[in-house]
Amino acid sequence: MKKIAILGSTGSIGTQTLEIVREHKDIEIVALSAGTNIKLLEKQIREFRPKVAAVYDEKAAKELAHNLRDIDLEIVSGMDGLIQVAEIKDSQMLVTAIVGMIGIVPTVHAIRAGKDIALANKETLVTAGHIIMPLAEEYGVNILPVDSEHSAIYQSMNGENRSQIEKLLITASGGPFRTLDKSKFDNIELEDALKHPNWSMGQKITIDSATMVNKGLEVMEAKWLFDIDLENIQVVVHPQSVIHSMVQYIDGAVIAQLGTPDMKIPIQYALYFPDRKPLGGERLDFASLAQMTFEKPDFDKFKGLSLAFDAAKCGGSMPTVFNAANERAVAKFLSRKIEFNKIPEIIEFAMQSHKVMAAPSIDNILNIEQATYEMIESRW
Ligand code: NDP
Ligand code: MG
Repeated sequence: MKKIAILGSTGSIGTQTLEIVREHKDIEIVALSAGTNIKLLEKQIREFRPKVAAVYDEKAAKELAHNLRDIDLEIVSGMDGLIQVAEIKDSQMLVTAIVGMIGIVPTVHAIRAGKDIALANKETLVTAGHIIMPLAEEYGVNILPVDSEHSAIYQSMNGENRSQIEKLLITASGGPFRTLDKSKFDNIELEDALKHPNWSMGQKITIDSATMVNKGLEVMEAKWLFDIDLENIQVVVHPQSVIHSMVQYIDGAVIAQLGTPDMKIPIQYALYFPDRKPLGGERLDFASLAQMTFEKPDFDKFKGLSLAFDAAKCGGSMPTVFNAANERAVAKFLSRKIEFNKIPEIIEFAMQSHKVMAAPSIDNILNIEQATYEMIESRW
């Protein structure tokens, strides 16, 4: 039986991963982890019986240990706890369903321990792709993308010669404000930004989709994951979210992966690669779909996307600053401390204030993240 561990099992990707495990009953969960949501984690532990559970928050970890005193398992906390989950003996794969740059260090530990990575946490490659990809190669571990666009690309590359790729075409829904006039961006409310037209996801990534920062992060992630130059990655706005991304080859052929917007498809593909398994849910109905449309992204309206390309072109530590500034700005928007339009403004300010470092180490990345947070805290 395949054994896996999950970082962030209580989130959107984490819970859907467990739904797949529940359905097929041929994967054993050896470790689970959460930030603070011990209520849901307790339920998951009682159902899936992992050997180890990590709760980042120490107080919450103690409370969980008390609530689970009738069960034999080890409860750990803090970064050490997340690392223990990542490295746990017996597991073959770590699902990184945790949000934020906190996912980087445990992922490095998992790779060093020889675990394959089902990668949802995009911050890992955005900020540390230059470290993670060579490390994965050195330890012979697979990095299997969970993000739907990267999974679509991965599926469209299956059986192909990667050196014959001309271009990656990453699709974007355009988010809830695709057709909203730029002059109205000043009046965007949190509730409107949280309404994604096609996908149901965690709050942070939902806001990132509304600003299109998410697409920028995905471009940076794709660059590392598939070892493709930035000039050969194109964003295509496709509001129906039916084509999840495409690969164009040197003969002009384009191969795409299509499906309903259901994250369980890419999650399951990563868990069982190279096999496919039955999965319920809706199927595409081309007759009722009627049409698929495509547009160029509006870089002027979605400044966050254009800043992401700037950060990617600059490289080194700039994507870390882009990501950290966005993370903090989104948190402020979610707690209604700043307006929607301030998000790209904060990112731009942080990028302009940063002196770029060419090949930052993990320690450098984490220090730069902290410095970016502090700078933003002191100004906004
Ligand atoms: P959620 O916010 O729904 O879940 C985040 C998970 O991380 C929760 O389990 C949360 O625990 C946990 N977590 C947060 N902080 C910590 C911490 N300090 N220590 C330990 N655990 C922590 O996020 P999503 O599932 O939406 O996204 C997860 C990642 O996957 C992100 O990087 C996102 O960009 C990426 N992704 C998500 C997609 C989606 O459809 N949701 C699609 C593609 C990529 P708790 O519940 O206790 O807070
Ligand atoms: Mg995506």
